[in-house]
Amino acid sequence: MPTYDATTDPALKAFFDIPAESHFPIQNLPYGVFRPSAKHEPRIGVAIGDFVLDLKVLQTLGFFDGPVLRNQDVFEERWLNEFMDLGKAARTEARKVISDLLSGKDDRLKNDPDLQKRVLIPMKDVVTELPVQIGDYTDFYSSREHATNVGTMFRGKDNALQPNWLHLPVGYHGRSSSVVISGTPLHRPMGQTKADDAAAPVFGPSRLVDFELEMGFFVSGGNRLGQRLPMAEAEDNIFGLALVNDWSARDIQKWEYVPLGPFLAKNFGTTISPWIITMEALEPFRTAGPVQSEPEVLDYLKPARPDQTYDIRLEVGIQGENMDAPHTVCVSNFRYLYWSMAQQLVHHAVTGCNMRTGDLLASGTISGPTEDSYGSMLELSWRGSKPLKFPNGEERKFLQDGDTVVMTGWAQGDGYRVGFGACEGRLLPAVQ
Ligand code: MN
Repeated sequence: MPTYDATTDPALKAFFDIPAESHFPIQNLPYGVFRPSAKHEPRIGVAIGDFVLDLKVLQTLGFFDGPVLRNQDVFEERWLNEFMDLGKAARTEARKVISDLLSGKDDRLKNDPDLQKRVLIPMKDVVTELPVQIGDYTDFYSSREHATNVGTMFRGKDNALQPNWLHLPVGYHGRSSSVVISGTPLHRPMGQTKADDAAAPVFGPSRLVDFELEMGFFVSGGNRLGQRLPMAEAEDNIFGLALVNDWSARDIQKWEYVPLGPFLAKNFGTTISPWIITMEALEPFRTAGPVQSEPEVLDYLKPARPDQTYDIRLEVGIQGENMDAPHTVCVSNFRYLYWSMAQQLVHHAVTGCNMRTGDLLASGTISGPTEDSYGSMLELSWRGSKPLKFPNGEERKFLQDGDTVVMTGWAQGDGYRVGFGACEGRLLPAVQ
């Protein structure tokens, strides 16, 4: 049975109308950074229905006066990092203040139309910005279905999973400078590729640009250099999650990845959704992940509780230049991931590598068991052998210039959705 608290109670309602299919009901309260309009400086806010709640103004007016947040001016910052660094206690305290103001339990906002005008900004008017100053970005490979599909394509069914895969969450150190906010277009990358039958590589635009449906989490707290993080403390060091599109150039990747793994094939851009859904908002949607009994994982990776993942429906749509709307190509779920976020974080830190507030750890492509749940074009078109058919008659093996990839996701409650909004980006032609 789901466990609820005063801020996740399904019966809770905002004092103004929020449609049932909104991603941002009062049970969600995700953090982001926005500009009220293009001419304003970026500031911290919370998405609520069709509005963004301006936390900077609320802080200036003294609304955050609890024991942890009093005398902190974390909501007057450009980035969420300082708030994130205060940890779970600050998050819990802020969440209660915001929830009470929006429900009307604390009636100071409900009864003050002038204040409402100042702090509830219509979402259609705002510009969202990167919410976190991202330190290090690491990308994992945590979906067994994805690793099996890719392994089958490149090494055959019998050797699909490498010998290490079921023993540790495989990952690589990525690039944070090119992490961009949803809506930022990206150019098709240039690079070296080599056809199987060619004697030498050539330089030019990648021909096999792909998306990867992933989710990422942001570290809050972390560990000191030389110290490890135990599984029992891992979740307390996670601030929340966002959708991630880890754009990939498959032809560049194929030629460059031996022996050190992905490099330029992944660093030309990584798109994240603007609102970070906190661990507190996801608590009612906890569920068990895949069984890890064959083999048993080593003790340092043993889950602290059986339900260390979440039931979050994920979708990917592609909209070409000649299409009126995105066409859904994939429906997957966060709970398919074999390795949990806690295991990714603990494994990352097991050498004593210091994880820091603002680090982004992404899951790897999230594929499910069925062909319509594969989280990349590589798998959906099975390496280009089964082109995807779109309603307007067009076909795709990989992405074309002008294609917009739209990812979305939500946890379904009883009569409400705790959603992630959209993570979208358009692929522009290469800069030659
Ligand atoms: Mn990836």
